[in-house]
Amino acid sequence: MEKYLSFREYYAPATQQEALQLLLENGPAGRLLAGGTDLLVAMRDKGLGAERLISIKKISDFGGIGWMPDGGVRIGATTTLYEVEHSAAVKRAWPVLSQAAGAIGSVQIRNLGTIGGNVANASPAADTAPALLVLDAEMEIVSASGRKIVSADRFFTAPGKTVMERGEILAAIRVPPSATGARAAYVKFAPRQAMDIAVVGVAVALKLDGDGRCREARVALGAVGPTPMRARGAEAALVGEIDERSVETAAREASAEAKPISDVRASGSYRRHLVGVLIKRAVKLALAREHAAA
Ligand SMILES: Cc1cc2nc3c(=O)[nH]c(=O)nc-3n(C[C@H](O)[C@H](O)[C@H](O)COP(=O)(O)OP(=O)(O)OC[C@H]3O[C@@H](n4cnc5c(N)ncnc54)[C@H](O)[C@@H]3O)c2cc1C
Repeated sequence: MEKYLSFREYYAPATQQEALQLLLENGPAGRLLAGGTDLLVAMRDKGLGAERLISIKKISDFGGIGWMPDGGVRIGATTTLYEVEHSAAVKRAWPVLSQAAGAIGSVQIRNLGTIGGNVANASPAADTAPALLVLDAEMEIVSASGRKIVSADRFFTAPGKTVMERGEILAAIRVPPSATGARAAYVKFAPRQAMDIAVVGVAVALKLDGDGRCREARVALGAVGPTPMRARGAEAALVGEIDERSVETAAREASAEAKPISDVRASGSYRRHLVGVLIKRAVKLALAREHAAA
């Protein structure tokens, strides 16, 4: 049987205040809409009820990529994945994020889908999430009571859930200057080359000293737990000399830290195996990357 989208009202507020007011007035019936590539599919195919759609795409403060005084970057939540992928600033200083955005769906999906929607939707397999975790990114959340900042590390709480409460909107993502992100890479395993969500995604970021020793490491995993997650044992294993042995240990640690489920796309044990394989690839790619400063 043919499935149709159904909703009663569509709002397109021009300001943050109007959007917050609409959220308050409409209560559980109101739903934020960005690119719609997750939401509209869930409404049509999964029976998700949303009577009133509040599009936030016209709100200028939620869009665009701009430098912050500390040399970091503020990426508005409604910035499309395509814009993140192709931004000269992101490509130069945080190539891992450009790479992760570019790994999503197809060019059509990336033209519609937003970085805010990717993280707010809180799929454990969201491709930008591991990259944001290794970059120590922060989420800028607005509500009627003001603005708050939450680290990416604390943002995801369960499949489809974040720390955001009703009445809150993700305004932007802040990425600090590219110290740890300087040598970082994202590797995604999906059976198809495009239009496929990650069976496993791994991001690695390494801060090296002048002698090539690793001073600080970040490792984040996607699609192997209820939320995107840091693999702290693997991070510890990578500090110091990076050689075959330390990378092997990191791969083993990360496989042990992962909490994958078995589903139609892969078994838990295969996902665990993939984590180890992808960590090695991601470290190799990160090390091969030029140091890039913000
Ligand atoms: C064919 C296809 C292929 C795909 N492939 C991939 C893939 O490979 N990897 C991947 O990670 N994803 C993939 N996706 C999922 C999707 O495209 C991305 O997650 C996208 O970034 C979602 O952004 P959006 O702007 O479309 O979000 P929307 O669908 O508009 O919103 C998603 C959810 O987030 C909420 N929301 C949106 N913006 C905000 C905000 N600023 N503040 C608070 N809540 C907000 C909405 O209310 C909704 O619940 C795919 C989707 C399709 C249809």
